[in-house]
Amino acid sequence: MKIPILHLEEGIHHYDFTIEGGSLHFYREEVYPHEMQVHVELNKFERNIKCTIHVETTAHYICDRCLVEYERPFAEDFEVLFHIGTRDLITDEEDVIILPPETVDIDLTERLQEFLILNVPMKMLCTDTCKGICAGCGADLNHEECRCTEQPIDPRWLKLKELLDKSPER
Ligand SMILES: [Zn+2]
Ligand SMILES: [Zn+2]
Repeated sequence: MKIPILHLEEGIHHYDFTIEGGSLHFYREEVYPHEMQVHVELNKFERNIKCTIHVETTAHYICDRCLVEYERPFAEDFEVLFHIGTRDLITDEEDVIILPPETVDIDLTERLQEFLILNVPMKMLCTDTCKGICAGCGADLNHEECRCTEQPIDPRWLKLKELLDKSPER
């Protein structure tokens, strides 16, 4: 995702990128296995460059409760600010990336990777009402009954069990 900036005119410029699924290679890439559409709106003003980046793809999650894999549309925006020159000129407290004056192009790939990692949800749920998996019997409670509380043992069998338990070990 390189954008040439050396002789870029001031004002707004648009760039589109298509990133093939699985081509980014970064930590948590398994969450974003599908093709990604990226649109960059670049605004150059004097020695400042503001990039507004719009990302669209389908994210792939695993439910924390029932371990089912599910997908959701992902469409988010983020901004990256650059300044050509030295840090001394910056009065802004915002996160600004300083570029040496001879910079030929900017590569937004790393910024995108960071953004995607930050957007992996802390909690993944296939549905808000997901009942999860029973820790006792392993039943997927969305689709089956818990088997932990099986039918109570027939009292007659219980009697026999007691007798067996009391009998001396063989
Ligand atoms: Zn679930
Ligand atoms: Zn159970």
